[in-house]
Amino acid sequence: MKILIFLITLWLLSASLYADKSDSYGKDLYSIKLQLKWYHQFQFAGYYAALEKGFYEQAGLDVSIIEGGPDVFPVAAVYNKEAQYGVCGSELLLHRLRGYPLVLLANIFQHSPLVLMVMGNSDIYSPIDLIDKRILLHEDGSDAEIGAMLMSEGVNPQSYGYYDGSADTDMLLEGKIDALAVYITNEPYILKSMGTDIRVINPLKYGVDFYGDCIFTTEDEVNNYPLRVRAFRQASIKGWEYALNNIDEIALLIKEKYRSDADIDMLRYEGSAIRDSLIMNKEVELGHTNPGRWEEIGKTYRRLGMTDSSSGTEGFFAWEYENEEPPEKLPSKLLPYMSFGILSLLAGGTLFFHIKLKVYTKNKIHSLQKFFSLPLYMLLVIDYNGKIKECNQAWVLWMKRYFGNEHPENIRQILTYEDVEKIEKFCQTNDPLQSSISLEVCFKTAESSGWIALDFYLAFDEKLLYAIARDITEEKARNGRMNESVEKALENARKKTDFIASMSHEIRTPMNAMVSITQMLIESGLNIEQKDIAEILIVSQHNLLQIINEIIDFSKLEAGKDEVILDSFSIKEQAKSIYQLFEVMARQKKLDFKLNLIRPLPNFIISDSQKIRQICINLISNAFKYTEKGEIIFSVGMTEPGILKISVQDTGIGISNEDISRIFNFYSRIERKGTVRQSGTGLGLVISQKYARAMGGSVTVESQYSKGSIFTLTVPVHVIN
Ligand code: ADP
Repeated sequence: MKILIFLITLWLLSASLYADKSDSYGKDLYSIKLQLKWYHQFQFAGYYAALEKGFYEQAGLDVSIIEGGPDVFPVAAVYNKEAQYGVCGSELLLHRLRGYPLVLLANIFQHSPLVLMVMGNSDIYSPIDLIDKRILLHEDGSDAEIGAMLMSEGVNPQSYGYYDGSADTDMLLEGKIDALAVYITNEPYILKSMGTDIRVINPLKYGVDFYGDCIFTTEDEVNNYPLRVRAFRQASIKGWEYALNNIDEIALLIKEKYRSDADIDMLRYEGSAIRDSLIMNKEVELGHTNPGRWEEIGKTYRRLGMTDSSSGTEGFFAWEYENEEPPEKLPSKLLPYMSFGILSLLAGGTLFFHIKLKVYTKNKIHSLQKFFSLPLYMLLVIDYNGKIKECNQAWVLWMKRYFGNEHPENIRQILTYEDVEKIEKFCQTNDPLQSSISLEVCFKTAESSGWIALDFYLAFDEKLLYAIARDITEEKARNGRMNESVEKALENARKKTDFIASMSHEIRTPMNAMVSITQMLIESGLNIEQKDIAEILIVSQHNLLQIINEIIDFSKLEAGKDEVILDSFSIKEQAKSIYQLFEVMARQKKLDFKLNLIRPLPNFIISDSQKIRQICINLISNAFKYTEKGEIIFSVGMTEPGILKISVQDTGIGISNEDISRIFNFYSRIERKGTVRQSGTGLGLVISQKYARAMGGSVTVESQYSKGSIFTLTVPVHVIN
């Protein structure tokens, strides 16, 4: 309640303040001057509307609009403090680059209205036809877009006659000049309506897209009066909104109040032409500014030799100054508005929330704008010919970094021929589902090179491409380094495997010799005790040889050298020779080792004898390793036509159901409590299985824990009888 009384008192107080000052109302407003660049006409409609409709006044501003003319230079007027604000074209940046501390507040015309006008009966149809012709242009840079168009079409300033002066249609009509820079919204309309046959050459058609009218001020103004700068900008834009929605009313206002020479129809025509072709407020937010485009404009000035300044657009945009605390106070005129705000707060919560929401939304938009201008991703709008129409600051910075001031204006300049073809094809697609294409492009400049990733999206309606770009130079270098180290690591691993394989090979040769000599020793008539010792020796040699063989086989598999080598051999003889290898071991371990040849067996078969032998040795070695008593049966037979079946059955420790699924994995060794730990690599079964599979067969196992196992190799073979 106390708060309510306080607020009502505050309102009454401020209302009385308002009443006291009402007679000196004008004095409480900021008095400022706006310098126009030309005579009163619809080109400045927004400012008249803002004044007439009280938008300036509501913003605390008392604005005087000063008419321009051929000898008036808004930039000079504002710089010399004859006015605080001015209206001019893209040449604003040129003057900034030349050292004048001018600041852009808003772009009102999104495109420049300047075109070249020529007579309809002349032989001039395009810029190239202007070689050796006489053109009237200005030296102050206010029609630099015409110069840029001529230059981009290969017509340099030396190849045409140059007249400095104000637009004078009479000179054109009298044939004293061949072309004249004019506003598309004015002179062509007047001449055409008088029945004069004229033609225009529009820089926009040749890819030169300058901004038209913008409002500007000085650094001093934005630093010292940020509130009034903002107020002026907002009220002017509001005025423009009004003017564009009420063309007839404002045309009449210009005619009557500002005594424009133009007739009312001309003003109306100018109004709609400005709205639809230059401001385009339905498509672009009024006042919208694209820093990338300004960078491009700056580059054009440099190319035309109008400035040699290498500085960019830093400090050119009003928003760059916005973070500082405003040093000036609100004009007292605004106090009553504030108190009405407080009353509104009391009277209607809805309005309060509405205002709060508006402020919140505005702040949000501001922070979003800041976010979007962060140099994270480069954003581009490109036409179907690759010309860059719009870009964000990130792209500008990136271009500068790699290409300096002479950076490509067309994306095709950094693409390969194949990439260009891909994009062209993509542009022709009518499938909305296939609405993007990604490219990774390696670009080269005089001094460096790098990589950029580009994602293109189709904007079907507008015949434009949106592109999101990312510099991936570092990423590529990192991947390259990574691939190199992976390659190195693989190479090292290969070398190690080769080394182990060749060493094992070197060991196997003397090992085989040792086995043969020990065998000879056993058969040389040793006494029982000596024979026993020699047999222990030969078993150990066998075990060692088995490990060496597995290492060699494994290295072969690793190196991909496990191809099947077919030969014809007698499976009977093969089985017998394998059996003999283990006879001594059977004796040593006191195991009953049997060879079971299941007849009928073919005389010869065609298969990979070495692989079959190696599998058998692996399976029998395991049977001996994991069997302490009982028997091992090595069976060989052709259970069905063309299928060789070899099984090794033992009465050993067996394998539990749980472990059985793991035994065919690399290095898989199963430790069992209460059994003797056996030597091994954990490779024997996996090698056997791989060999069997390579031959089109398989190794299977059936086992019962602590009862024994039976391993079976089944492999298709070709039989020769
Ligand atoms: P290694 O015998 O060198 O350990 P293998 O790949 O030949 O490697 O065998 C894998 C595992 O399978 C062995 O560790 C063992 O636990 C089990 N195994 C293989 N053969 C038998 C068998 N005949 N009886 C019991 N367990 C076996």
